[in-house]
Amino acid sequence: MDLGIRGKRGLVCAASKGLGRGCAEALAEAGVDLVINARSADVLRATADEIAAKYGVSVTPVAADITTEDGRAAVLDALGGQADILVNNAGGPPPGKWTDWSRDDFIKALDANMLTAVALMQALVPGMMERGWGRVVNITSQSVKTPIGILGLSNTARTGLTGFVAGMSRQVAPHGVVVNNLLPGIHATDRAISLDTGVSKAEGISMDEARAKREATIPTGTYGTPEDFGATCAFMCSQHARFMVGQNILLDGGVSNSTM
Ligand code: NAP
Repeated sequence: MDLGIRGKRGLVCAASKGLGRGCAEALAEAGVDLVINARSADVLRATADEIAAKYGVSVTPVAADITTEDGRAAVLDALGGQADILVNNAGGPPPGKWTDWSRDDFIKALDANMLTAVALMQALVPGMMERGWGRVVNITSQSVKTPIGILGLSNTARTGLTGFVAGMSRQVAPHGVVVNNLLPGIHATDRAISLDTGVSKAEGISMDEARAKREATIPTGTYGTPEDFGATCAFMCSQHARFMVGQNILLDGGVSNSTM
């Protein structure tokens, strides 16, 4: 399917690996020129070079912490202050117990997983509105629909972002700008490996056993992949997503057991 976005300019945050990289690859395949971001410069540059060589688009790496004001300024500078497509992403907050989190822990999580995305939308969406076309995908989590107790900082911050998008997406839709959220369940990235490592150590089982145990809880019987995830993200950034506004698209292999 032609996504109709060849020649558009996009920013994908936190994209040297994992789900962000999956999104960057799928957008590059559709012909989008990209700025991509992550903190480790070497890994990011290698990713940018590989994507540019594979798909023949321009990929500019900006090594910075996207959760800081300086990091966002560096990324926006590389874009010349405008983009047609924005994919918001950052690392998730650490797990813990609800009684232990301090105000500072909450502020950190809100900064990383809510206010960073809000700031980038505030910086880039007005230009999209002026030009009459734009797409934003915020990577959140299945935990927005099905809370995961030990990830309370994530549940809190991402639900806040979801509430912001619910209102704002309807305000910008008349100007051709489409804003939605994409909710990953378990995908085979470094994050899944670290979850499996935790189970493997805690239960004295092998990594393969830990993965098989988790996969058995997923109706598809497998983890998702960055490729699956990227393809859905690229569709949500395409011309065809014109009528999809303020939605929360769950990609979890059927784990969340609800009718809607
Ligand atoms: P990942 O494989 O660990 O990749 C994370 C990427 O983000 C890397 O490129 C990393 O590069 C970059 N990054 C992390 N923090 C950053 C920051 N502050 N500024 C800029 N770049 C940053 O993680 P993932 O599995 O793709 O997860 C992506 C997001 O989806 C996370 O918020 C995660 O909590 C959420 N999620 C993932 C899953 C899953 O199953 N994978 C499920 C639900 C939710 P550097 O380290 O070099 O910065």
